[in-house]
Amino acid sequence: MDLQLEEALERLCSVIPPASGEEVSLAAAAGRIAARQVLSPIDLQPFDNSAMDGYAVRAADVGSASLERPVQLRVAARTPAGEVLAQTIRNGECVRLFTGSVLPSGADAVVMQEDTRPAMPDAVLVLNPVLPGENIRRRGEDVACGAALCEAGDRLTAGRLSLLGAAGVSRVMAARRPTVAVIATGSELREPGDVLARGQIYESNRLGLAVLIEQAGALPRILPIVPDHLAATQTALAAALKACDVVVTSGGVSVGELDLVKRAFEDVGGRLEFWRVAIKPGRPFTFGRFEKKLLFGLPGNPVSSLVTFQLLVRPALLRFQGARQISLPSYPGRLTEALANDGGRRHFMRVRTDAEGSVRSAGAQASHILSSMAAANGLVDMPPHTSLPVGAAVRVLRWDPD
Ligand code: AMP
Ligand code: MG
Repeated sequence: MDLQLEEALERLCSVIPPASGEEVSLAAAAGRIAARQVLSPIDLQPFDNSAMDGYAVRAADVGSASLERPVQLRVAARTPAGEVLAQTIRNGECVRLFTGSVLPSGADAVVMQEDTRPAMPDAVLVLNPVLPGENIRRRGEDVACGAALCEAGDRLTAGRLSLLGAAGVSRVMAARRPTVAVIATGSELREPGDVLARGQIYESNRLGLAVLIEQAGALPRILPIVPDHLAATQTALAAALKACDVVVTSGGVSVGELDLVKRAFEDVGGRLEFWRVAIKPGRPFTFGRFEKKLLFGLPGNPVSSLVTFQLLVRPALLRFQGARQISLPSYPGRLTEALANDGGRRHFMRVRTDAEGSVRSAGAQASHILSSMAAANGLVDMPPHTSLPVGAAVRVLRWDPD
């Protein structure tokens, strides 16, 4: 019996070891998953400061200010950002400040420069009143000392990294990125660039898989093409399992006598956990374990290998890194053309969707048709024997923003 996709996902996620972390600089952490919560070591803002170029005042001094009756204040000092004023300002005084300047003691508001006019000498006319607290960025207003800057499982995005840097954090624990060996099996396969003899084809799965592995935060290692010979397959698998956390193979997991991956994996000591998932494309998907290492045996058809990667391997690699969001994000959409799954298997159909959520088929859906894979930016999960009319609401599992 073929496993349901959800059951397959649950089974493989349940054997993935908890994420381990490594300390790295913020720059090296870009795009990775935080392995630990980080608490802020300081208040952010670190001190009360001016939100504007202007003048620090006592709000009560300028309560009556207007264009017709400006209030004149003596400019007692000037504090550029980065400097600290020792004196306290008194009634009738102000201090020239710039955005980010420390608020001097005695002041409780900042009048912005645009609401003033210079007056000679060392004085300024205030043309509008301010409320206490106005134009002041308060100490701790952004993040209080001790509050969480990020949680374990968060992706270290530009925004989160900026926040960590602003709080003075220079290194973080990022989840270790799994190394992933990428193997293509098939005696017919040749490297792009080689000259093909009749019957041979170009190998195209490793590159696409390596890109997706990288996008999932893992470290791909492309290994040589393996012919459909048992000994060669055993040797390649043994070496890959030794070198990497995860091995992804393509091809050789169907029922033909030259489909040797499952057998070779068992020969080198691996245990097959399951084979066959009730999806199209990609039914022969295979999952196995060797000690702490994982084997994902993807079908060789180019579309099947990429789609099963997105549905089953990507989530596993993200779970390995402790990420919270592991499945492809799902967006609502509406069909602009009818979509049908005439077959008896759940079909993840290649679609193209735009920013408005209009969804149409990306082309022919057979598992060897790469042009529709190239045109697609997502998948629609179509139950067996289902047809949906124009205008039907669907969910699109998306991978590309464009
Ligand atoms: P298999 O899963 O090995 O039976 O392969 C299914 C189909 O996909 C066959 O037509 C293979 O030639 C083709 N195929 C397998 N591996 C690759 C690959 N790495 N690149 C391109 N085509 C492949
Ligand atoms: Mg093959």
